[in-house]
Amino acid sequence: MRRVGIVGAGITGLIAAAELKKAGIEVFLLDKSKSVGGRMATRRVEDGRADHGAQFFTVRSNEFQQDVNKWIGDKEVKKWFGDHHPRYQSINGMNALAKYLAKNLCVYVNRKVQAIDFQNGRYQLYTEENEIFEATDIIFTPPSPQVMEILNNSKLQADKSILKTLKFSPCLVAIVKLYEEVLYGDHGQLTNPSSAIQRIVNDQQKGISKTPSLVYI
Ligand SMILES: Cc1cc2nc3c(=O)[nH]c(=O)nc-3n(C[C@H](O)[C@H](O)[C@H](O)COP(=O)(O)OP(=O)(O)OC[C@H]3O[C@@H](n4cnc5c(N)ncnc54)[C@H](O)[C@@H]3O)c2cc1C
Repeated sequence: MRRVGIVGAGITGLIAAAELKKAGIEVFLLDKSKSVGGRMATRRVEDGRADHGAQFFTVRSNEFQQDVNKWIGDKEVKKWFGDHHPRYQSINGMNALAKYLAKNLCVYVNRKVQAIDFQNGRYQLYTEENEIFEATDIIFTPPSPQVMEILNNSKLQADKSILKTLKFSPCLVAIVKLYEEVLYGDHGQLTNPSSAIQRIVNDQQKGISKTPSLVYI
């Protein structure tokens, strides 16, 4: 019997788990955070809300479009703006979509995977919390430096050459609470307002916050 262990319950892990479950394969997810979503992150700002990770997503395949149509039908997602490759947003903040996707999945949060091993035909996932989870297959979804850390802690020999080629650049996100309403174009976002800022989003105009808050990325 296959039992897949997925490290990370961000959008990648959640969608992979849903697909495996649909195919009748037993699957569980482990995430080091206290909740699911990873970089699909939404934060409370007093009475308001701000998405401080992904702001929107686009659809590039028919299969994904079918999923998105279901999420629209379930009132989890709506089109934010754009006609050619529309930008979709989660109606209650991007993290709410992750929580909705996690609903019928087996997710263990507050579990930081530290190392893996392979014995007796199964993988063992060792957590910082001193638990061992067993799986026939493992999918890693954290950013590559975090996957490297797990592999470097493991006795298991793994080919890390592709992981080493992936580069991540740091970025700062600032959330600014305003005491007056402002309007940014038709949709509440400015793209590339300066060389250092990729995007400014007004979460009140986006419709996820009762009060005006801006996110600078
Ligand atoms: C500021 C910002 C803005 C962005 N804007 C957009 C956008 O507008 N549109 C877009 O499409 N994309 C955007 N992105 C990119 C998008 O957010 C990511 O590509 C996507 O969310 C990544 O999802 P993921 O599941 O692959 O990884 P993550 O969301 O990073 O999930 C990985 C998960 O692994 C967990 N984890 C890590 N290490 C361990 C461990 N050792 N044990 C257990 N769990 C572990 C983490 O807690 C996390 O939940 C943005 C990203 C940022 C940071």
